[in-house]
Amino acid sequence: MTGMKAIRRFTVRTVVPAQISALTKLATNLRWSWHLPTRTLFESLNPQLWEKSRRNPLAMLAALSREQLQALAQDPDVVSRVAAAESSLDTYLCEPRWYQSLGAEAPACIAYFSPEFGITEVLPQYSGGLGILAGDHLKSASDLGVPLIGVGLLYQAGYFKQSLSRDAWQQESYPLLDPDSLPLTLLREEDGTPALVTLPLPNNRVLHAHIWRADVGRVPLLLLDSNVAANDDAARGVTDRLYGGGGDHRLTQELLLGMGGVKALRTYARLTGTAAPEVFHTNEGHAGFLGIERVRELMDPAITEQPLSWGEALAAGRASTVFTTHTPVPAGIDRFPRSMIEHFFAGALAPGVPVSEILALGAENYDGGDPAVFNMAVMGLRLAQRANGVAKLHGVVSRGMFSGLWPGFEQQDVPIISVTNGVHVPTWVDPQLAALAKERFGAEVLDGPDWSKVYDVSDEEVWALRRRLRSALVDDARARLRSSWKKRGAADAQLAWTDSALDPDVLTIGFARRVPTYKRLTLMLRDPARLKALLLHPEHPIQIIIAGKSHPADDAGKKMIQDLVQFTDDPEVRHRIIFLPNYDIAMARTLFPGCDVWLNNPLRPLEACGTSGMKAAINGSLNLSVMDGWWDEMYDGENGWAIPTANTGAGETERDDIEAAALYELLETQVAPRFYGEVVASAAGAAGASQPHQGALPARWISMIKHTLANLGPAVSADRMVAEYVQRLYQPAAVAGRLARANNYAVTKELAAWTERVRPAWSEVHVEHVDSHGLGDEPQIGESLQVRAHVNLGQLDPNDVHVSVVYGTVDDADDLAQTRSQRLETVQDHGMGRYQFSADLLIDRSGDFGYSVQILPTHGALANPAELGLIRTA
Ligand SMILES: *Cc1c(COP(=O)(O)O)cnc(C)c1O
Repeated sequence: MTGMKAIRRFTVRTVVPAQISALTKLATNLRWSWHLPTRTLFESLNPQLWEKSRRNPLAMLAALSREQLQALAQDPDVVSRVAAAESSLDTYLCEPRWYQSLGAEAPACIAYFSPEFGITEVLPQYSGGLGILAGDHLKSASDLGVPLIGVGLLYQAGYFKQSLSRDAWQQESYPLLDPDSLPLTLLREEDGTPALVTLPLPNNRVLHAHIWRADVGRVPLLLLDSNVAANDDAARGVTDRLYGGGGDHRLTQELLLGMGGVKALRTYARLTGTAAPEVFHTNEGHAGFLGIERVRELMDPAITEQPLSWGEALAAGRASTVFTTHTPVPAGIDRFPRSMIEHFFAGALAPGVPVSEILALGAENYDGGDPAVFNMAVMGLRLAQRANGVAKLHGVVSRGMFSGLWPGFEQQDVPIISVTNGVHVPTWVDPQLAALAKERFGAEVLDGPDWSKVYDVSDEEVWALRRRLRSALVDDARARLRSSWKKRGAADAQLAWTDSALDPDVLTIGFARRVPTYKRLTLMLRDPARLKALLLHPEHPIQIIIAGKSHPADDAGKKMIQDLVQFTDDPEVRHRIIFLPNYDIAMARTLFPGCDVWLNNPLRPLEACGTSGMKAAINGSLNLSVMDGWWDEMYDGENGWAIPTANTGAGETERDDIEAAALYELLETQVAPRFYGEVVASAAGAAGASQPHQGALPARWISMIKHTLANLGPAVSADRMVAEYVQRLYQPAAVAGRLARANNYAVTKELAAWTERVRPAWSEVHVEHVDSHGLGDEPQIGESLQVRAHVNLGQLDPNDVHVSVVYGTVDDADDLAQTRSQRLETVQDHGMGRYQFSADLLIDRSGDFGYSVQILPTHGALANPAELGLIRTA
């Protein structure tokens, strides 16, 4: 070795002999990452090379010598297996699936934007949950036949690799990826030159990017890459790292993702002849500038024959845009200085689009907002007619968090719905569990919504499988532990102990996630003596496997990792609690199935959804979690345990103390005894702690496993999630988008003109007074009440508004609850903008009753009455 580092690496692709040339196609379509038969085929070609090339089919093909390839091509068995795999892929790619049974309302194409995509460890373009979710979204869309196109960035180094220093401080390294060795295809013009996306930057600079395509089953994923010769050095570095740098660098990434992403879609449609997207879905705010690019297109006479005004273009773009918010943690939201946005848009980035309007989209012009800041989530909400959070509780939290954008509205009426996240089952179910299901019940069990067949599997078989999964994890963890210690400077001679770290028969608890403070990695260390006692319990020991990366700039997170690792370094406990560096998809796939219990203890309600617990559940692990995210809606008392949350009034330290104590208590009195339960009762003392499972099985534990699989399996599946997105968001957005475009944007123009008329006139709208008649002194159920509202609409007309009575129960403070509403229909014109609206209200509930009157603007092209953020109440 010279010590000199290559500045660029490239890979020469192998020419695969004709008889088995389909291997290249099989290696290039990422379906292999979740399709076990394809993986098995590659593995069988050369098991050693398969491991050596880190289970990456393309790398393995490149590593096979010409002679080896020739030998495979001469083997009739290999040739026929390759042909069978190819035909399975071809069928998968074009047969009708669920989506093809939907009607004509279903969009012809949906574009899905995300800053990260976690599909396989071979393509490390993700940092955590957001990216894994995006990957699972694409995979389930593919399985369901949803015509989706993913759009993202190709980071040269992806996210960092994590290791530890001797004193347990996180070390980051950024190995460069070579696109040519990845399962990617460069998008080219007809003349063979690479297709190029260009984005004008300030100071007459231009940002160019290539477009790589990854095939995720049926779903193409377009990844923009700024590392091209035409760029200056700074522009080349735009896609250097995932979430690298801050300020300008980050903003340029997001401009490329959003605006460049739309341009890439246009280029892709032109070159492949595929349908243009009818719906644009942005996974978090990072890609929000896609809305600006679409407005720009609609305002540009070179693109749109009769260009639209700002207001019209905005209305048209919003109609077909869906925004998903992913975090209730303010630090998780991108915010830029307003001046920076102004600087970038002052030039040729979006000619014709008023910069003041762009700035207004991201303005925090509500209580507690910062006037100097441009907020990407706020822009995302204003650019999308439909928005959602990612779990029921997160929907509630988001409606509160963003309620400033809908002043005057009750939080429950803020137009943000929720679609609970899910996980792609074929990716995350362990092959051994999948094999068992297939052998017993046929393949469809785990693909379908009925998992109750698990009740037909004997306790013995379930328990034996759990032990195999736990053992596989123990083996993998030992190897990783040894390699981590070697990187920390230990010599082999000092590491014999790692071969017996962990025990395949001890209750195994997993905890792995990114390490922002709210996830409280070190909550378990709150009372170290108590934790130690749990780990070393003579009859009910537990062992804990922990992993997680801290953001490179987050020293508080790194300190938490250090504290934890230093605890695990103690020779007294190091065989029972370990930290594994470099959490990634590859580790996760062994970790989730191998753990008996999956622990999650975030600060409620800061975990938007969380998906690792779902991945554990579909492998028969039980969750032990704070009632946050998905667990808040899916915990049912039989599928795991809920860690109680301290009163939010408690201070931070006090909260941690209370919740940690509750966690220890649960482990000690519920979880561990149940895991070892029956055995300890019958064989205490005799069997001892080292072999707690000889003989009897923990029947209650196994019944919890079966219950978990049967009930959570279908509920946490990403197929359920994607189907919900299609039905509740994509279809309505496509319909609204078509209506907006019809007859040369007739409805759009009408809506924009109406909005421009209603907005300024709204300040005059008010309820003058309300009276009611018809009830006696002691109102009874079944009587009706005539409600009359005298309102002043100023310049507006009764057709512009929806006047309704909102009624329900009242408490001592006169607050309405359990409200319902009824429109006041009958109208009398009193002149000068004054009208009387009335209706009869049937009293159908007993108890304290109250009502109020509200006025909302109404128009057929609005998706929600709260959309304009205008309301007037009595
Ligand atoms: C599932 C997963 C995550 C996200 O887990 P959360 O529970 O949402 O924190 C992060 N990283 C990897 C590798 C995963 O597999």
